[in-house]
Amino acid sequence: MTAKTTAPAAPAKKSTEPTPCLCGCGENSKGKFRPGHDARHCSNLAKKVEAKELTRAKALAEAGKASDALRNKLATMLDNQGKRFKEKGDKAVARAQAKAAKAVARAQAKAAKAAAAAPSSPENVSA
Ligand SMILES: [Zn+2]
Repeated sequence: MTAKTTAPAAPAKKSTEPTPCLCGCGENSKGKFRPGHDARHCSNLAKKVEAKELTRAKALAEAGKASDALRNKLATMLDNQGKRFKEKGDKAVARAQAKAAKAVARAQAKAAKAAAAAPSSPENVSA
């Protein structure tokens, strides 16, 4: 068996000039967006619509500058926005409750530890 060594891939030619990422992060990208930043751009636009900084039409037009796919994605996002925010709110409540429960548990554990570490008090001593 001879190990087949494949030639290393040729270094990517810098044929495309880096362009600033369209999401506005200020970083350069090889295409329109850095990886994952199309989604970021999309949610930024959705947030602006939610905050009434942009109209839905303007946000869609903005997303459309990048690609039709992104525009469609934003449209879906805007359609689901109300629902999404509600879920997010519910999650936040659940998280706050979990945090509070944890704090209580921690306080109890601390108290128990302190009690265990404390030199035996008269009432703990049993013959
Ligand atoms: Zn970006």
